[in-house]
Amino acid sequence: MGDAVKAVEGWVNNSKVLGRIAFLEVIDDLSLGVLTVVVKRSEVGPETWELVKKIKIGSAVRVEGVEPPEVVSRKGRELHALRVEVLAEPEEPLPVDVTGKTPAGLETRLEYRYVSLRLPAYRAIFVARARLARYTREYFEEKGFLEVHTPKLVGAGAEGGATLFRVDYFGGTAYLSQSPQLYKQMLMCGVPRVFEITPYFRAEKFDTPRHLNESWGVDAEMGFIRSHHDVMDILEGYVRHVSQRLDEEMGDELRRLGFRPLGKLGNIPRVTYREAIGIVEERGHRVEGEGGDLDTRAERILGEYMAEQGYDAYFIVDYPWEAKPFYIMREENGLSRSFDLDIRGTEIASGGQREHRRSVLYSNLVEKGLDPSSFKFYLEAFKYGMPPHGGFGLGFDRLLMKLLGLDNIREVVLFPRDRFHLVP
Ligand code: ATP
Ligand code: MG
Repeated sequence: MGDAVKAVEGWVNNSKVLGRIAFLEVIDDLSLGVLTVVVKRSEVGPETWELVKKIKIGSAVRVEGVEPPEVVSRKGRELHALRVEVLAEPEEPLPVDVTGKTPAGLETRLEYRYVSLRLPAYRAIFVARARLARYTREYFEEKGFLEVHTPKLVGAGAEGGATLFRVDYFGGTAYLSQSPQLYKQMLMCGVPRVFEITPYFRAEKFDTPRHLNESWGVDAEMGFIRSHHDVMDILEGYVRHVSQRLDEEMGDELRRLGFRPLGKLGNIPRVTYREAIGIVEERGHRVEGEGGDLDTRAERILGEYMAEQGYDAYFIVDYPWEAKPFYIMREENGLSRSFDLDIRGTEIASGGQREHRRSVLYSNLVEKGLDPSSFKFYLEAFKYGMPPHGGFGLGFDRLLMKLLGLDNIREVVLFPRDRFHLVP
């Protein structure tokens, strides 16, 4: 408050001239509200007035002015201009309507992501994304996890070759990492708890609203556990923490901008794989391939059932070992110490207790049809006092999509990478 002159920089999202007064809507910061710049002809002089009258929507501007003692604009912040400077003008009308009157389709918004970011509702997604990364670090640091960065150019994948992108590596072959799985487990032989915010590269020819070829994940691994339930406790704490923090800091704003955010998550129940199959079959869907993963339809039906019970998020635990990767600990009854976390019918995370006994791990590799010699560097780490451990990999983009109540993962990634999008 007061008469101090303030300078503001940003883009003009709309302009309106009413006689001798003009209103410019300027998006100037990450607060997600536009600033109304009030320009009075009597206060700025003829030169600036002429400039403001002709100002093009989309121009980059610098405004000097004073905040009024009382704000009349419904939109919140206001500045009374003393000087307006145009720093850059658009050469063409903007490809995305920044006044918000004509919504642009997803393809246009992806092609011109930087322009769509001038609209508060799209900007909000990426402000929420940055916050989610911050809440993630908050939580894991508090729980004693070390943040690590493992290599993304690797010589072997966690689950064999078919889903890996190949890269020429000085005449040899390297792959883009599909997951930090092997590295985070090796670290368990020297650090009690680690986490990583990491890209996942997966070469499958996906064509769904929830898969990308480059996505981001939160991977965590913890040692000295008693069972996979210890890992689920941490994961449950994590998603509840971030859902609460996002709701506190952005819930009202997101609703004002037209989102239907998930809000704060409550208790997360643990349903066994067997129970899940029962629920799905009771609802008339036969799950193919006994002992396999739940198909998309089964996931959806289970999601509907859980929603009726009042749960947005739930664990599916104790999958048959057959359905899980070699590193998951197998039980004598053919099941495994594994879990998935789903939110409203979509898988968000997978995890479990790992096999830490080297000889069992070796025979599990063989049984899954993998060649132990390509995992030599990994098996080596199990020789030197590897404690019982477990962890999970969670889809950061998927979690954000669900928290914001969106239904296409491409909405929450700046420049998504899939079969049809490599440029820009
Ligand atoms: P899905 O069955 O949904 O394809 P997955 O079981 O193959 O996933 P995991 O290997 O368990 O995936 O990876 C851990 C988490 O990472 C998943 O639960 C999901 O949230 C996320 N994730 C995996 N693959 C992708 C992808 N291609 N695009 C976006 N997120 C992904
Ligand atoms: Mg999975």
